[in-house]
Amino acid sequence: MIFSKRLAAVEEHIQAACRRANRNRGDVRLMAVSKTHPAALISEAIAAGITLFGENRVQEYEAKRRELPEGIEVHMIGHLQSNKAAKAAAIFSAVDTVDSIKLMDRLEDAAKREGKQLPVLLEIKLSEEEAKTGFAPESTELQTALERAADLRYVAVRGLMTVAPLHENPQTARQCFRELRRLREALAQEHPRVKFDELSMGMSGDYEIAIEEGSTLVRIGTALFGAREKRA
Ligand SMILES: *Cc1c(COP(=O)(O)O)cnc(C)c1O
Repeated sequence: MIFSKRLAAVEEHIQAACRRANRNRGDVRLMAVSKTHPAALISEAIAAGITLFGENRVQEYEAKRRELPEGIEVHMIGHLQSNKAAKAAAIFSAVDTVDSIKLMDRLEDAAKREGKQLPVLLEIKLSEEEAKTGFAPESTELQTALERAADLRYVAVRGLMTVAPLHENPQTARQCFRELRRLREALAQEHPRVKFDELSMGMSGDYEIAIEEGSTLVRIGTALFGAREKRA
């Protein structure tokens, strides 16, 4: 019940942001970030119409998925260590946080063994915060990754993802989202064989701004499920 109410409120905000930006509602996907929450709550979200989920730990999702119906789309949105690439490729529909060439290569091998196409996003680090992961926007590693991406057969790069810095000033997030969109446009010109359709940006605190700045996928946890308990 409470989930449906929160979902209705979020949906209203998404639609209002789309109207302000003159965008179609159908061009923005809503991902419910279900990390830390039990399978029962995910089932409630599915009943309310959610079809796309985000999880940030391989082991946590591996345990929960046994209790979930097939056919839902679940993306990995947390930092993924290369040694967990095989497991991640097996259980997730997509990995939205590819932050190194090494990880991309491991996922290619793993997806090949699984015999499946694995859509991925490249995570870009646009803030100075130490804890953030991702390719630096000006790095040669990012350029090399995109050159290699064009030749991968199982991993399919679909676009970019970023996490805006936590900041009281919403203009900081807006600046960050704008930068990601510009980067996407520049990279798409330089790498015509790679797809850049997806721009995953925006969380509970800043998704309306992200939509105004061109987000195609917002990742919303707290505004849908309530506050998360702190992890041990
Ligand atoms: C936890 C998380 C979210 C959701 O955050 P909320 O502020 O709860 O909406 C989105 N993206 C990533 C990468 C996350 O780790």
